[in-house]
Amino acid sequence: MDKVRTRYAPSPTGKMHVGNLRSALYEFLIAKHAGGDFMLRIEDTDQERFVEGATDIIYRTLDSAGLKHDEGPDKDGGYGPYVQSERMKSGIYMEYAKKLVERGEAYYCFCEKERLDSLKTEIVEGKEIMMYDKHCLLLPKEEVEANLASGKPFVIRQNIPNEGTTTFHDELYGDISVENAELDDMVLIKSDGYPTYNFANVVDDHTMNITHVVRGNEYLSSAPKYQRLYDAFGWESPVYIHLPLITDENHKKLSKRSGHASFEDLIGQGFLTEAVVNYIALLGWSPEDNREIFTLDELIREFDYHRISKSPAVFDIVKLKWMNGEYLKAMDFDKFFEMAKPYLKAALTKDYDLKKVAAMVKTRIEVFPDIAGHIDFFEAVPEYDVSMYAHKKMKTTPESSLEVLRELLPILEGQTDYSNDALYGTLSKYVADKGCKNGYVMWPVRTAVSGKQMTPGGATEIMEVLGKEESLKRLRAAIVKLEGQGISL
Ligand code: GLU
Repeated sequence: MDKVRTRYAPSPTGKMHVGNLRSALYEFLIAKHAGGDFMLRIEDTDQERFVEGATDIIYRTLDSAGLKHDEGPDKDGGYGPYVQSERMKSGIYMEYAKKLVERGEAYYCFCEKERLDSLKTEIVEGKEIMMYDKHCLLLPKEEVEANLASGKPFVIRQNIPNEGTTTFHDELYGDISVENAELDDMVLIKSDGYPTYNFANVVDDHTMNITHVVRGNEYLSSAPKYQRLYDAFGWESPVYIHLPLITDENHKKLSKRSGHASFEDLIGQGFLTEAVVNYIALLGWSPEDNREIFTLDELIREFDYHRISKSPAVFDIVKLKWMNGEYLKAMDFDKFFEMAKPYLKAALTKDYDLKKVAAMVKTRIEVFPDIAGHIDFFEAVPEYDVSMYAHKKMKTTPESSLEVLRELLPILEGQTDYSNDALYGTLSKYVADKGCKNGYVMWPVRTAVSGKQMTPGGATEIMEVLGKEESLKRLRAAIVKLEGQGISL
């Protein structure tokens, strides 16, 4: 069997959409799973859509996602050039287009814009579709030659008969047959001499020995025309895998408006690359068991493209957040701390031990930007109502809390060691002496030092970070607050 060769063939038109990254990932996984090669080809023949800097985004994204290409513009593997505008310079596309003309599978078209505009257009799925009427197919040979000799602008069109059907095979969709009459004589070579994507992808996939083509199913309707080109050349077509649509939570096509449609958006929102890649792998593919967390190496081992689903994949940001949280929990602490530092620093101006704060939040956040909301109370106790001291399960009331805080204050004033362990020992002893439950004491203390119902750590962990002075200040302020509300014993 031939060595598996896949390609990611982006058009440099902007940010890398989640759907593009999924195509790249699946191409990479198919190649690596089979011990094959993954290639990068830049499809820049549509000069109008070209965006400066977009190629850099492609390199950066593949690199940070760990999708290392074996061949590409920066890594010659003997199939170059790997940029279509450079491939064009050798005349490869024109040469193949002329072969098709010779075989009657394509023809020169000299129609001007006005004529084309006057042709009947059809509206299919909201898009205007113009069916070319084969006017130039019927031009006498001499006229074509005279036109060419005089330098009249032309395009080359694929000649698709009006009768019969064309069948192609997709790994997910099976055999698909379409009536030839429904297929337009698409342009292969444009008037600027550039090939269209539709033509170049066929010539390149063949001449670069590509075995598997993975792309979004928006290309499904063009696939019969590509099949006809393969057949016309007498080439074997690659294995086609057209991926299901990615939708947002409302089952609409995932678009920029969702705010998280591109890799850059997601990274900018604080998601980890590994989590994003892992999540994207599951947008249309699932393993045999229900496992969800995979490293890239594990994906390479497990990825079987036969298990890709045809149903639309819903991009669920809630699920991605959960997954990101799992990655944060599993992350080595030092690495976590380095990555969390900017968020900790942005949230805290006081001179606290950031490592301790990081340790408190590590298992509680889903994405780094969550940090701020978890630790805001370290900066200042927020406004809260004294009713927060009442906790049914802990059997506390504002009154019982006032009593506990008043009794504890002198004990904690006398304490010098403000480590978590020492403080916990002190509070436990107080609990034992009082003969009450732990929560009866911990709840009011934690409320007093944090002003919050939920905190990333317990009362004594928080006090350790706050230090003696700040802890006592907060305990005293809590007593004053309770007293000010008319709470008395
Ligand atoms: N250049 C096309 C795109 O970016 C590639 C489609 C394909 O993979 O064939 O959409």
